[in-house]
Amino acid sequence: MKTVRLGRTGIEVPQNAFGALPIQRISTEDAVKLLRNAYEGGMRFFDTARAYSDSEEKVGKAFEGMRDKVFIASKTMASDSAKFWEDLDASLRNLKTDYLDIYQLHCAPRCYGEGDELYEALKESKRQGKVRHIGITAHKIGVAEDIVRSGLYETLQFPFSYLATDRDIALVKSCKENDMGFIAMKGLSGGLLNNSRACMAFMSRFDALPIWGIQRQSELDEWLNFFENEISMTEELKAVIDKDREELLGEFCRGCGYCMPCTVEITINQCARMSQMIRRAPSKNWLTEHWQNEMLKIDNCVDCGLCKTRCPYELDIPTLLRKNLKDYKEILDGKEI
Ligand code: SF4
Ligand code: SF4
Repeated sequence: MKTVRLGRTGIEVPQNAFGALPIQRISTEDAVKLLRNAYEGGMRFFDTARAYSDSEEKVGKAFEGMRDKVFIASKTMASDSAKFWEDLDASLRNLKTDYLDIYQLHCAPRCYGEGDELYEALKESKRQGKVRHIGITAHKIGVAEDIVRSGLYETLQFPFSYLATDRDIALVKSCKENDMGFIAMKGLSGGLLNNSRACMAFMSRFDALPIWGIQRQSELDEWLNFFENEISMTEELKAVIDKDREELLGEFCRGCGYCMPCTVEITINQCARMSQMIRRAPSKNWLTEHWQNEMLKIDNCVDCGLCKTRCPYELDIPTLLRKNLKDYKEILDGKEI
């Protein structure tokens, strides 16, 4: 397994890391088992966040007594320094540790710099030894580019999968040129991509550390398999990638949920990408009475525009929802998929 060095942090780990967002949805016992199995299988880097409800506590429990064997990154969505310190203390307590390997400003709307209270707090947390390296996560390419240009952060976390644009790829390369670690979130593009071999083969061509969101042992096994059976790009995988890019490129919903809650309770993060999900996962799962009712809520959209102000990808959500509903209704009426 290729290793990745996260720029000037000096952290070097196998290019196969654990994203701990999904473990919010399973019991503590199952999460601890999953995390320990990930460690036993070779994973060394674990990424969590204050915003992922009890994910930090589960990671803390899994690695109690072996803190020095793993790298742990967490994040804060604080918008002022008081909340920053409150979050950092909570993260350290939950993770049962006195330091974080990387602490990241979560989903930054802009590049915070010298003089901004959040950036000053980050620097101070490093000075105090509570944080070893400072990082930031962003979803907008322009913000991410500003961050790299600023030279102020040691790592950048950004969505990166084989649906990446040339601009995304240039971003990863500029991180390397600036000796900055690149952590790739959404390597499966929010569940749209389902060929782990193609995802891993694509990632292996870059200096990027993927943090795969993992909830089940079967998912973990797929990723652990690459420790023994290293994968590289083949003609067959290239064909998979080309086909998916043809089908999926453009304006698509990543399922992140940042746009929610919706004023009229539409489940935007699923309904705005129903057309893709229904064609990529067993379609019957999306045709249940539950999902039919959820989709019909789209008719209640009042065009308040609130969701659009929150979407990091600047999608025209009401239009996208209506497009998905039209397609969904046609499928219910017997359209071939
Ligand atoms: S514009 Fe429509 S989908 Fe968006 S928050 Fe308002 S009601 Fe919900
Ligand atoms: S519409 Fe935008 S914010 Fe909402 S789930 Fe999709 S990508 Fe995320």
